[in-house]
Amino acid sequence: MTNQEIRQLFQDIRVWQQGGKRAPHKPLLLLLAISRAIQGEVTITEYSAIDSPLKSLLQKFGPSSGPASRHYPFWHLGTDFDGTLWQLDGPKEILERPPGKTPTLTELRDLNIRGGLAPKIRERLQRDIRLAAEVIGILLYTHFPATLHEDILAEVEIPARFILPPVHEFDRQEYRRDSTVRQRILKAYNYRCCICNHDLRIADRFVGLEAAHIKWVQMKGPHEIRNGLALCSTHHKMFDYGVFTIDPKAHYVLFSQNANASGPTAEKLLSYHGAPIISPQKDSHRPASAYLEWHRDEVFKKPARGV
Ligand SMILES: [Zn+2]
Repeated sequence: MTNQEIRQLFQDIRVWQQGGKRAPHKPLLLLLAISRAIQGEVTITEYSAIDSPLKSLLQKFGPSSGPASRHYPFWHLGTDFDGTLWQLDGPKEILERPPGKTPTLTELRDLNIRGGLAPKIRERLQRDIRLAAEVIGILLYTHFPATLHEDILAEVEIPARFILPPVHEFDRQEYRRDSTVRQRILKAYNYRCCICNHDLRIADRFVGLEAAHIKWVQMKGPHEIRNGLALCSTHHKMFDYGVFTIDPKAHYVLFSQNANASGPTAEKLLSYHGAPIISPQKDSHRPASAYLEWHRDEVFKKPARGV
């Protein structure tokens, strides 16, 4: 298999994305498996060995629907590409089930079903660390916004330098459209964070001010002002994590009950809860409710604190 064919396999994993719903299970499981391969793992593993880290990853970086069906990708990756990418092993009567008849979590655990990167792929990634870095880049850039990349890598124990952005990220037209819209979003909000008013400058350069997509580009969120917010770096990261969302109609800030902090951080955090965002200069630039609804449903860590 050529390097390009391997990159393509990771690019083409089938992710269930009906109606804009996020399903980050397969990419997160693959990142976990790649990390184990880089660290020298030489066999496929029992499901029970991977259940706990996978659950934790989904709680942090998955949608609020949570880790309920977290074992699905362990099974379904084995049928994608006829087992070229992921190998399964276990009792014949389970392995011979039709692909759609997913074993239960208990069956996977009790019958010692084992799975992992197919040996050919694993060995290639172990031998060629550059290829591994490219594949990690593909999984991250295809499924998650950049604000979360380092944290996901830390969680799966891959050093942050082991990531190479995929080549298509450098598409010239896309690059121009993206950077033009980012500038227009910052201008629309008068160069300040729409939550906390942050507008720090050094000379004429803004420090820690970013244009955020409400509906992620990875989920086909468009590059347009109404899908954007000007946010300071901290609020950008918190927004992409789902620590808070913005009410799609009334545009006030709603923090998650799952977000915890103490002392001054908690005071600061909660002082924005229930407060309206700072509106853009023009009404026509206000965030569109469809994108805010997507964020509330797919990113926000429900439930919200009471207002
Ligand atoms: Zn802010």
